[in-house]
Amino acid sequence: MTLPPLTLYLAAPRGFCAGVDRAIKIVEMALQKWGAPVYVRHEIVHNKYVVDSLREQGAVFVEELDECPPDRPVIFSAHGVPKAVPAEAAEREMVYVDATCPLVSKVHIEAARHSENGLQMVMIGHAGHPETVGTMGQLPEGEVLLVETPADVATLSVRDPDKLAFVTQTTLSLDDTAEIVAALKARFPNIVGPHKEDICYATTNRQEAVKAMAPDCDALLVVGAPNSSNSKRLVEVGARAGCRYAQLVQRAADIDWRALEGIRSLGLTAGASAPDVLIEEVIDAFRQHYDVTLETVTTAEEHVEFKVPRVLREPA
Ligand code: SF4
Repeated sequence: MTLPPLTLYLAAPRGFCAGVDRAIKIVEMALQKWGAPVYVRHEIVHNKYVVDSLREQGAVFVEELDECPPDRPVIFSAHGVPKAVPAEAAEREMVYVDATCPLVSKVHIEAARHSENGLQMVMIGHAGHPETVGTMGQLPEGEVLLVETPADVATLSVRDPDKLAFVTQTTLSLDDTAEIVAALKARFPNIVGPHKEDICYATTNRQEAVKAMAPDCDALLVVGAPNSSNSKRLVEVGARAGCRYAQLVQRAADIDWRALEGIRSLGLTAGASAPDVLIEEVIDAFRQHYDVTLETVTTAEEHVEFKVPRVLREPA
């Protein structure tokens, strides 16, 4: 049988970022050091495949600290946690390892520093996302105002319009965030913020790669989880950059082959928490349906690596 031709554009960079890589290593090293079970507060990274493989090795995923016995180690996920969480772990004399991505910790430090300088904080982020909850939780409840859209800026009620600073979630859409920052600056000209915004290198690079290839693709697939913020943003970026069909898939089994009928080109990328093995699985599935010509679209090189905490590098 002759298969129809398909040019498959593979985005680079795609998939795992340094923060996700470090968080997964932390759980694996904790299991080696302390044996199973090791508790993990929240999904270590937003990917079912990753979570299931760690669960098989003896990790137990919980949502709250009080679900962990005090005599077993607990790890905090890459998204970061409110200050109250490590404080409670210390009070219960638990062994804990914080797998918060260093780029999220940097935002936590920024928020605390601005607040110490007497500035009221505004956070640009998604309500309820663990990273937003963690960053807002660096300051006492009610101290950080959340904005999700430019419209939210118009209704913001602040203590003093000249004493404000903003931080952002690291996995937002660059373009949407630029609009919100512009609205903040228009209403509060003296607001202080990071140089650009806090969107991390991995989010930025993955979005830029999608923007570069989306106009040439009849369809775009993003390998990622439905609760992964940066993966969902890649789908939106692809659609906005001109790709008629942009979809999130967790695995090859989710591909809607009927919707893809007649395509000649496909863009493929993956969110920062999706492992390579799932991208390979999707490529293999396409090879079964099409005569695939693979082309990598490289828009940036990444060499970022984060060290795991010292406690895991020392012998037990
Ligand atoms: S997406 Fe960015 S902030 Fe989030 S874990 Fe990866 S490097 Fe860190």
